[in-house]
Amino acid sequence: MTTSVRTTPTQNAPAPTARWIALALERWFIATARDLPWRHVDPSTGLRDPYISLVSELMAQQTQLSRVLEKFDPFVERFPTVQALAHAPEQDVLALWSGLGYYRRARLLHAAAKAIVDQHQGMVPADLAELRALPGIGAYTAGAIASLAFHVRAPIVDGNVRRVLLRVHGIDVPAEDAEPVAWTEATAIAESARNIAPTNEGLMELGATICTPRAPKCDMCPLRARCIARRTNRQDTIPRPKAPPKRQTLHHIALLVRDARGRILVEQRPATGLWAGLWQAPAVELSTRPRSYIAAAAELAQALRLAKPVNPARQVLRHELTHRRVEARVFETAIKPRTKPLRGQFLNAEGVAELPLSNLHRRILLGGTES
Ligand code: SF4
Repeated sequence: MTTSVRTTPTQNAPAPTARWIALALERWFIATARDLPWRHVDPSTGLRDPYISLVSELMAQQTQLSRVLEKFDPFVERFPTVQALAHAPEQDVLALWSGLGYYRRARLLHAAAKAIVDQHQGMVPADLAELRALPGIGAYTAGAIASLAFHVRAPIVDGNVRRVLLRVHGIDVPAEDAEPVAWTEATAIAESARNIAPTNEGLMELGATICTPRAPKCDMCPLRARCIARRTNRQDTIPRPKAPPKRQTLHHIALLVRDARGRILVEQRPATGLWAGLWQAPAVELSTRPRSYIAAAAELAQALRLAKPVNPARQVLRHELTHRRVEARVFETAIKPRTKPLRGQFLNAEGVAELPLSNLHRRILLGGTES
C-alpha cells in the first residue's frame, strides 16, 4: 500500500502550482541555458532539427555530457540527415558510437532512422504515438522530441525530472510509486506551460545541474521560493532510494595475441546478446567462477590453436553494465609456428581503434582508460 506524503507548504509561502513552476523554469532556462550543439534552432522557424533532437536524446541516455559532447559532432558530420543514417552500414554507425557504450541504443537509433525513411517519408513525426512506435523511443524520448523540436505540449519524466518534481512538491512516496506521480505532475506542467520547449528543457536542466541527487544547489534554484523539500529540509530524503539491482557477475577471459609484426588478433562477437556485433580480443564469458582462470584461458587458446597463455599483469578489469558486472582477466599468448588461429584477423592498432569496440575491449586492446 502506498504511503504517499504530500506535505502542506509552511512558512506562509504559497504552494508550487504547475503554472508557477512552468513560468519559473521557462524564465530560468532562457536566462541560463548552456550552449550545447543540439540546442541550435533554425532562425527562420525558431525550431530545432528534430533529427538532431533524436540523435542527441538517444546519445545522452545514461551517458555523461562530456562524453556526448565528444561524440556528437563527428556523428552528425558523418550522418547529417536521417536519410544518411538510415542508409549507412551498421558497422559505420557502431564505429562512430564507439566510446558511448550501450550499443543497443545505436542499433535502435539506426532502426528508427530506417523506419522514419520507410514509413514517414524521411520526416521525423511530431505525433507522440507515432514517435513512440519508432524503435528505441520510449515515453520520455518521445516527449522530449515532440516538445523540444515541435513545441507539442508533451510531458517528460526521466530520473532527473522525477527528482525535481518530487522535491518541489514535497512528495515522499516509495520508489516504485514515484514514476506515475511524477508523470501526473509533469503533465500538469506541460498543460500550463506558456512556452513548452524552454519549460521542459528547464526541467531537465534543473535536475541535471542544480537539483542533483546529492547536495542540491538550492540557493541557485529558480524554484527555491516555493520548493517544499527545501522548506522542510528534506532534500536528502526525497526521493526515496531505489533498492539496488542484484547483479550477476560474468567472468570474462580474453586473450591478447600479437603476430610478428605487432598486429593484434581481433574477432567479431555474435550478432545477438552482450556487445552484439562488436569487436574484441578473442574471449569467453563464464557465468560461474572457473576453478582456475589460467586453465580456462588455456582451454580457449587451445581451441583457437594458440600457444599456452600467461597472465603477466594478474590484473582484474572490472566493468559495470546495467544488470551485470563483468570481471575480466587478460592473458597474453602467441601464435604457434606455421599455424593460423582458428578465429579472427590481425589488425594494427589504428585499424583496431576504428572498429566498434566495447569500452572494456577498448581498454584491453588499446590500453585506454574508459570504464
Ligand atoms: S530548491 Fe533545492 S530541492 Fe527544491 S527543486 Fe530547487 S534544488 Fe531541488
